[in-house]
Amino acid sequence: MNSKAISLLSGGLDSTLATRLIMEQGVEVVALHFTSLFCNCSKGGNGCGIQAVRTAGELGLEVMVRVKGMDYLEIVKAPKHGYGRGLNPCLDCRIFMLKEAKKTMDEIGAGFVITGEVLGQRPMSQHRAALRCIEKESGLKDLILRPLSAKHFEPTLPEREGIVDREKLLDITGRSRKTQYELVDTFHLKEFSCPGGGCLLTEPLFAKKLKDLFDHSRDFTVKDVALLKIGRHFRLSPDTKLIIGRNKEENDRLSALWLAPQTLLAPQGFKGPLGLLSGVASDMHIGIAANIISHYGKNDIYPVTVESNDGTKRLHRAEWKAMIWESLRI
Ligand code: SF4
Repeated sequence: MNSKAISLLSGGLDSTLATRLIMEQGVEVVALHFTSLFCNCSKGGNGCGIQAVRTAGELGLEVMVRVKGMDYLEIVKAPKHGYGRGLNPCLDCRIFMLKEAKKTMDEIGAGFVITGEVLGQRPMSQHRAALRCIEKESGLKDLILRPLSAKHFEPTLPEREGIVDREKLLDITGRSRKTQYELVDTFHLKEFSCPGGGCLLTEPLFAKKLKDLFDHSRDFTVKDVALLKIGRHFRLSPDTKLIIGRNKEENDRLSALWLAPQTLLAPQGFKGPLGLLSGVASDMHIGIAANIISHYGKNDIYPVTVESNDGTKRLHRAEWKAMIWESLRI
């Protein structure tokens, strides 16, 4: 078999160490990193993609970056193996990434894949049956080496062929990262992040908004998913959704992302959030949106400017004060 390896490098603690352990044995390693719309890792305000590049740089590795796009979104919508506590399809996600890794292996002539998986660390995707399922469905049986937990598994092909010395691999299990942090000191590593994940799909509030999008929009776009990360969201009717900014930065982003046929609503004469109305924008919907904007702007009068994407502007004054708007919150 080819002695070159691909490492699934997230930029986090475990994959960094797993990669470093195999490099220590003189194996040629190429890092493969996946980014997605759901990455929430922001060390230094950057994000997982940038962090993985920095991690690879510290390790002296070439890194290939792949984007998990619409094909991945289809998996998130209907995962074969179900969800974790949020809308995280961890098993399907791992299988997706390893299938992609297999294709890359073939492209660059690598013989096996390294991952930072630790037996028993994550309840959904890192118990023994899940790891076996991932190997089988990715088509990489015998070719996934998990250096941090290798001694709890049968030797893989690169171990049996002597490309990797099994004696130098580890036997870590569970959620404690004590051994990993000792190794960080041993290897003098600095560039790693998000030991707990950094995936928005695991966050219940984000999952609720994504589920609402899946339930109400058949042909949503990447931009619709990006908007889920901004502001407060309200479902006004099956066809209408309002997003309001929580601060100036979010107001600016909503304004920048505003596109036809959405309607933009802005407070008139008082400080308050901008609102982005998607879908049907009847007077009733605009009235509800005006109330919500006024409420968050702590204003009693309720005037907002309603700006359509065709350039027309008009002033709207809501006709009622009491609203059950909180029940509309996604
Ligand atoms: S936490 Fe997110 S990125 Fe990680 S395996 Fe699960 S779905 Fe994939």
